[in-house]
Formats: sequence, structure tokens, C-alpha cells
Amino acid sequence: MSDNKIALVTGANKGIGYEIAAGLAARGFTVGVGARDEQRRDAAVEKLRASGADVFGVPLNVTDDASVSAAAALIEAKAGRLDVLVNNAAITGGWQQAPTETDLSIVRDVMETNVLGVIRVTDVMLPLLRRSASPRIVNMSSGVGSLTRQSEPDGETGPLSMAYAPSKTFLNAVTIQYAKALRDTNILINMACPGFVATDLNGFRGHRTPEQGAATALRLATLPDGGPSGAFFEDAGVVPW
Ligand code: NDP
Repeated sequence: MSDNKIALVTGANKGIGYEIAAGLAARGFTVGVGARDEQRRDAAVEKLRASGADVFGVPLNVTDDASVSAAAALIEAKAGRLDVLVNNAAITGGWQQAPTETDLSIVRDVMETNVLGVIRVTDVMLPLLRRSASPRIVNMSSGVGSLTRQSEPDGETGPLSMAYAPSKTFLNAVTIQYAKALRDTNILINMACPGFVATDLNGFRGHRTPEQGAATALRLATLPDGGPSGAFFEDAGVVPW
């Protein structure tokens, strides 16, 4: 069993999740690289190990109860606890449709991954997190989920969707519920917006690198005791609800 702190990052085979995994490993964590596709997971684990990271692959589809339970069993067997959970996995959808002509199946799929997936993973991992001396949960949200922010800090409003942006609003509400429920524990749970990052999610249009996009999540994953909980950050600033 490793003496290192143990982290799990969902959707860590590419993009921002991969860089969060790399950043946590660089900070001395043993990192579970959660990913649903075996080949992409193995490739990420191999690449991270080649850079000296202490990582292991975690088969994980956040929409599948059995997969999430198996992931918890794997971490329990490996470490007996979990110190950091980063709920990063997400999908997008619905951008091609006018919000007035919504295909409800897209909304269902996006909510299943971006919201129910986070609840599913968090609830199953909580018993392992409760065994940590300083447990932290980071939910990857987005400024587009802000109800009051009219545009990104760079002035971009982005396209509209009844699926992706509302899924992040719902995720923020869910995170607040967790923060209240866990108020009397040492678990800190917060939301991170990575900024507009060039990844598959947006056809690589973002102007930040995935490494830059990982920075806020890394800060929240390593908050000192007594740090904030139930807060929504982008860089050093708080994102308005
Ligand atoms: P990517 O599309 O590059 O990566 C998303 C990751 O989630 C992939 O590893 C993908 O796996 C995984 N994933 C999707 N569905 C599931 C599932 N059911 N089970 C397990 N893994 C799954 O996106 P980003 O790196 O850009 O996004 C990371 C996070 O940051 C997301 O929460 C996103 O909403 C958020 N974000 C991103 C922004 C940006 O500008 N890029 C802006 C604001 C927020 P697979 O390879 O198998 O598809």
C-alpha cells in the first residue's frame, strides 16, 4: 500500500483531466486515471508513467453504476481510502440546435453524464473519502453555467444549448447541497471553471492550454484545512452564480 495521498480523476485520458492527473502526480499523489475506454486509458497511463508519475488505470464509466462500484473497490483494495476526487468527466451537446427546438434525448444524455455521473461517483466514493485526513472534492464546472454572467471574461458569449450550460448550473446546485450536507466533516467540495481551453470538447477552439485549464482544479484539490467549501472559482476569482 502506498504512503502517498491517493487521488481519482474521472475522464483523465485526455484534455484537462489528463493534466489534472499529471499535476496531482507532480505534487506527490498516487493518481487513479479514470477512463471508460481501455485503449485510451492505457495510453494515458503509459504516457504519465513515462514522465515519472505514480499512476494506475481505473476503468470508469460515470454513467454506469456497476463500473463506478468496481472503481471504488479497486481504490479500496489499492489504498483503503481516497484523499482527492476530481469529477472532471463531461460531455457536451445540443449546440447545433436552437434552444427553442431542443432534442430532449441530448439533454438527457448530457445530464446523465455531467450531473448524475457526478452524484453517482461522489456517493460511491464518499466512504473512502471519509477515511482521509484531508479529503477534497473538485467538480469541474463552467462559467457558462453561471446564471448571471452574461459572457466569458474575454467577452465571448458562446453558442446556446439547453443541455451543456444548464447541466453545469445543475452541477453547481448539486455541489452546494453536498457542501451543506458535509459541513460538519473535514471534506471540502468546490467547483472549478478552467477557462476556455483548447480540447476535444470545443473542437480545440479555446485559447488556454489544458495545463493552464488544470490550475484552478489543482489548487482546490490541495486546499489547506479550513479552506472554502461550496465555492465556485476560476483562477483566483469567484465565479458569480
Ligand atoms: P474533453 O472532451 O477533452 O475530455 C472529457 C473527458 O471526459 C474525456 O476523457 C472523456 O472520455 C470523459 N468522459 C466523457 N463521458 C464519460 C463517461 N461517461 N465516463 C467516463 N469518462 C467520460 O473535455 P475537457 O478536457 O475540455 O473538459 C474537462 C472538464 O472541464 C469538463 O467537465 C468540462 O465540462 C469542463 N470545462 C471545459 C472547458 C473547455 O474550454 N474545454 C470550459 C469549461 C469547463 P472519452 O475520451 O472516453 O470520451
